[in-house]
This record gives sequence, structure tokens and C-alpha cells, in this order.
Amino acid sequence: MSSLNDSIQFIQGVGPKRAEILTSELNISTIEDMLYYFPFKYIDRTKFYKISELNADLPYIQIRGKILEFNVVGNGKSKRLTARFYDETGGIELVWFKGLTWITKSYKTNVEYVIFGKPNLFNSNINISHPEIEEANIFDKSLVTSLQPQYSISEKLKSQFITSKTFRIIQENIFKNYFSLIKETIPDYLIEKLKLISLKEALFQAHFPQSPEKLKNARFRLKFEELFYIQLNLLKQKLIRKEKSKCFIFKKEKDNFTKLLFKQLPFKLTNAQIRVLGEIRTDFVSGKQMNRLLQGDVGSGKTLVALLSMLMAVDNGYQACIMAPTEILANQHYNTIIKFCKDLNITIRILTGSTKKSERKELHAKLQNNEVNILIGTHALIEDEVKFLNLGLVIIDEQHRFGVAQRARLWQKNVIEPHILVMTATPIPRTLAMTVYGDLDISVIDELPPGRKQIKTIHLFDNKRLALFGFLKKEIAAGRQVYVVFPLIKESEKLDYKDLEDGYEGYSRDFQMPEYLISVVHGKMKSAEKKIAMKIFITGKAQILISTTVIEVGVDVPNASVMVIESAERFGLSQLHQLRGRVGRGAEQSYCILMSGNKLSNEGQKRLQIMVETINGFEIADKDLELRGPGDIEGTQQSGLPFELKIADLGTDGRILQIAKYEAEKILKNDSQLQLSQNQILVYQLNKKNKNNVNWSKIS
Ligand code: ADP
Ligand code: MG
Repeated sequence: MSSLNDSIQFIQGVGPKRAEILTSELNISTIEDMLYYFPFKYIDRTKFYKISELNADLPYIQIRGKILEFNVVGNGKSKRLTARFYDETGGIELVWFKGLTWITKSYKTNVEYVIFGKPNLFNSNINISHPEIEEANIFDKSLVTSLQPQYSISEKLKSQFITSKTFRIIQENIFKNYFSLIKETIPDYLIEKLKLISLKEALFQAHFPQSPEKLKNARFRLKFEELFYIQLNLLKQKLIRKEKSKCFIFKKEKDNFTKLLFKQLPFKLTNAQIRVLGEIRTDFVSGKQMNRLLQGDVGSGKTLVALLSMLMAVDNGYQACIMAPTEILANQHYNTIIKFCKDLNITIRILTGSTKKSERKELHAKLQNNEVNILIGTHALIEDEVKFLNLGLVIIDEQHRFGVAQRARLWQKNVIEPHILVMTATPIPRTLAMTVYGDLDISVIDELPPGRKQIKTIHLFDNKRLALFGFLKKEIAAGRQVYVVFPLIKESEKLDYKDLEDGYEGYSRDFQMPEYLISVVHGKMKSAEKKIAMKIFITGKAQILISTTVIEVGVDVPNASVMVIESAERFGLSQLHQLRGRVGRGAEQSYCILMSGNKLSNEGQKRLQIMVETINGFEIADKDLELRGPGDIEGTQQSGLPFELKIADLGTDGRILQIAKYEAEKILKNDSQLQLSQNQILVYQLNKKNKNNVNWSKIS
């Protein structure tokens, strides 16, 4: 009995050798894999050009005609086969650099062919190299019509003569022999409700579209299916976890929390902060473990939310900790938090790589006696010697900077896993968050504290440096401070980018002692040196801080009003946005100045343009996703997308994703265990997908 799980090698036109290449290159091993290998674009092949109309500016085109003769020209590396090809309006040359014997054997003179390829200009003549060729009478009878699928083909495949056309033939053979084996994957009620076309029809139309309309419906159905199962899986896991994860209840609200909130805080919480604290509190009293992602643009006041949450834990007799990705940031959290808590009756300690051994020992002991209520630190927190008496809440700042395993080690510090809050200021596009973090609850601080002036962003080319320095001097004269950020130090000697050292020289010529003091921080410095350099700036002794991106996350110096980003074109959008967030924290008008070389790539130009136009982190994240695709988005880079998308595109299919999520939620609401008979098809598909994709949703 044949099945869709049969090896692809049994399909006519494949065989064992090609099957092996398909598996190693494209991960296609079964017939089903092949059916789900979709074209990346479709080309109109109803249109034919006349040879007299061809020019090198045209994209892929097709012509009809006959081969007059073959010629082998050149020798050695430049040896090639050419064919004179003509129609009633003129002639061109077809060229091959490989497979010469095979070509001459396969194609004949005086037979009508359809040629498909890209016209090029060579020695002021038009030619087409390595065209796709098909006998005209076969072409006319083939399934392919106005929308011809193009499959992406790796170089390795090309060298084995596996082309887009080969794929079309394979797909055709599959549909001829296996069509009846394709089984529906979505329950009838959903198909009816969303007016989806059947899977059979969708797969067929995706590979052999009969009209643009039909293709559109097919792609919608297939994208929906893909996103729907990802959502269903994530949401189901979230449910399971919620059900089994008993956790501490922080019911009492007394002393510290109230005292800070109502007596000591010099300002009022924003509405967004209040809302988010409410969401967190609901989790704390639910009896279930909190697994929450807190997203908030830079400067939106996440630290305070974190602190108030920790106080809720402390007020209930539990310990809390917060882990930050860098020592600078951990120090800063520590300083901020002890300032806020100076009149409270709690013990707050810091633990980083540079904490002394003797101090550590004493700290370890106190943690186990509950003599330390709040611990702030870096990776040092996850070391085995760090043990708590009763850790109730773990907070991770800039969580994308930590690996999954590192984070997991923190939760395991208690027999009962503590509540977990992860925070990020790298806004993740909603579509991505819904897929990557679908198993977390998400809170968003979408409001900045009042009174902030909008940061002005300006893009300057390097030749405007004099003007830049003049402007900086004016700002410094008015008492402000300036950040200057360079791309990574000595990252690549070859690239013509100013690195920090040259940059420092440039600045120090114009900003000389004793009038000006420049502090420098970079990744290669020892942490004690870094601390000192930072301190000189934070305390206002230095007016300029030159650094690599070590200051990227979290540093808070309200008096700094200018952020200069050198070689800004080298930074990604989310990094630029993070850096910009370092200013605009005080009452003064702040500026972000993006310096770039005169020659910019299109994409570089676009990125800087986006930065100039918007300061909304979520908007920027969406644009970033459009520009770069999900694989590259910061925040997913490290963990990678936990699944492979075969047809859906998170950059453009947000609406379909929303529908998929809505439907998945609704189904689980009515049938959380998926026990209804109408939902058995879902259980079957989930099991199948989970078998193929072990780490589907193992994010947090
Ligand atoms: P984030 O970590 O979200 O980037 P921070 O927590 O560092 O932001 O907050 C930025 C600044 O705003 C800090 O100086 C903080 O004290 C201040 N802040 C926080 N909440 C408020 C508020 N409700 N009103 C005024 N200032 C606030
Ligand atoms: Mg922060």
C-alpha cells in the first residue's frame, strides 16, 4: 500500500540518487514533504516575446523558436556550448557552460521549443545562458498555464540538473498517482466557517494554479493551516502548564509595597504601569505559576514595575531576584532599587562576576536564611552555589540575551518553580511574539511617563562632522552630556569603518582637556575599569561617553541629551532604537544623531529613514520584520525560530495569524482537552507535527 510517507525516491523522475540530494539539501524525504515544498513565486508563462523585442533589461521571459545549430567555443575554463536560436523576427544565442554533451544529445535542430530564461547582454548581443527548454508541443499540453511555479533551487541541485522544471515534473507525477491519498487536516466545521478550500484542492492549486483567484485561496488555506497548528500547539501547552503548575500565592499586600507606592514614590505610576501591575497581581493570587512577558519600550518604566512585583513577593515572606545581561546594567538596577527602597525594611544585595569571594560566601549563607530579600545580579545568579530559602519570584531583564538553558536553571532553584517575569525592551513585532512567545502571557507598557520630550532624530553624512561637533559643544555648554557609540571594536580590519580607537582620536582632537573630559567604555575592558569609566560619566565628570554597544541596554543617565551613533548604517533597527532610548530621559530636548558614510546601501538608507520617521518601538519592530524576515530579528536570533515556516510569512501574514490564534483559542475554550469527536483530527495533526518537530515550543 502506498502512502504519503513513502520515500520520495519512488516517484517517477526521482530515484535513489536524487532522493538523497533532495533530503540533504532541502530536507525533503517523503512524498508529503515534497507536496509541502511550495513555489516561492509564480511566473506568467502565457506571455511570449518575439526575439526582436528582447533587451537585457527584461526579467525572465519566454520565446518560441528553433535551434539552427550548436557550436562549441573557447577552451579550458571558458569552454562553452552555444546554440543559434531563431524565430520569425530574428535570432539570439543560447549558452551553456556545463553539461555540454547532455545538452547536444537532448535537443535537436529544427524542432520547435519554448525557451525560458533571462536575456543578457554579451558583446553587445543578447543571449540567454542555461535556459529552460521544453518542446513546444509538450509545453502546450502541460498542466502549466498562466502562473508557472518557480521553486527555489540550491546550487548543489542545479549542478545535478535538478531545476524548477524537474520539480514541476515531480509534482505532476505525485498528483497523478497520490492525489487520492491526501487527507483533510482541518475539521469540517472550521472549513465551513472560514470558507476554506479543501487540502487536496489547495495543494493542487499551490503547485498548478489555474487562476490567480484560486491560487490566492489555496495560499490562504495553507498559511492558515500552518499558523493555526502552531497556535493550537502553543496554547495547548500553556493550558497544560497552567493546570499543573501550582505556585505560591502572594495575597497579603502590606508594608513595603504600599509604603513605596503611596509614600515614597516621587511620581505617579502611568496607567500602563498600573494595568500591568494588576495583571501581575492577578497571576500572584491565582495559585498558578506566572509565566509572563513584559514588553515595554525603552524608558517606559519597567524597572519600577519589576521592583513593585518583587515587593509583593517580599511582603509575603518570599525572596525575589532579578537577573540582567551585563554587569553595568545589574549595577544600575541595584542603585535604582536601593534608592527607591531606602526607607523600607528590606535587604537588597548584588551579585556579579566581580563580587569578591569572601563577600560571596557571606551572601550565599544569608540567602539561605532569608536574610536577603532581593538579589540583583548577572549570570552569576545561576551558579549552583546560589541557593535561596524560598525564592518566590524570578525576573529576567532583557531576556533575549540569555539562552533557554540559562533561564531554566534559575527556575529550578526551588522545588516549586517560582513565578516568572521576563522583560524586554526590544519590542518584538506582535506577530512574532504571538508565535515565539505564544506560551507566555504578555503584558505591554505602551505609554511613557509624562513630560518626556520627543527625541529628535537626525541623519548626517560624515562630511557634516564639523557641524556635529559644533552642535555637541553647544549642548555641553548648556550642561548636557553626550553618548557616542561606535560599532564593535576591531571587528573586521578590512572593512572601512571607523572603529572606536580612530573615533576616539577624532573626538579628542576637538574636545580637549581640561575643558572637556571623555570617558571610554568597550567590551575588552575589565569590568572594574568599565565601572570606573561609567562612573565618571554617570556622575557628570565626563561630558562625553564614547563606547561600543556595551551601553546598549538599560543605562539611565537623565542628564545625557545627545546620542551620536557612528557608522549607524552598520547597526540593525532594533539596536538603533535601543541606543536612542538612552536619551530623552530627562526634561531636556534630546537628540539622536545617526552618522553614516556617504555610500549607503538601499537597505541601510531605509533603516536610517525609518529611524528618522518614527520613535515607536513596535512600529520599528514591524518594519524590521518586513525588511529582514523573522530569522534575523533580535530576540529570536539566539533561540532561532522554534519551527520552520513553509508558506506563511510573519512579516506579511499578521492577519491570518490573528484569525488562526482566535480560532485556536476558541476551540480550546470549548474543549480544553480536545476530547470532542469533531476535534480528533486536531489531536492527530498535533501529534504528528510534534513528532516531526521536537522542540516546537520550547522557548521559556
Ligand atoms: P525601562 O527599563 O523600561 O527602559 P526604566 O525603568 O529605566 O525604563 O525607567 C526610565 C526612567 O523613568 C527612570 O528614571 C524611572 O525612574 C522613570 N520612571 C518610571 N516610571 C515613572 C513614572 N510613572 N513617572 C515618571 N517617571 C518614571
Ligand atoms: Mg530597563
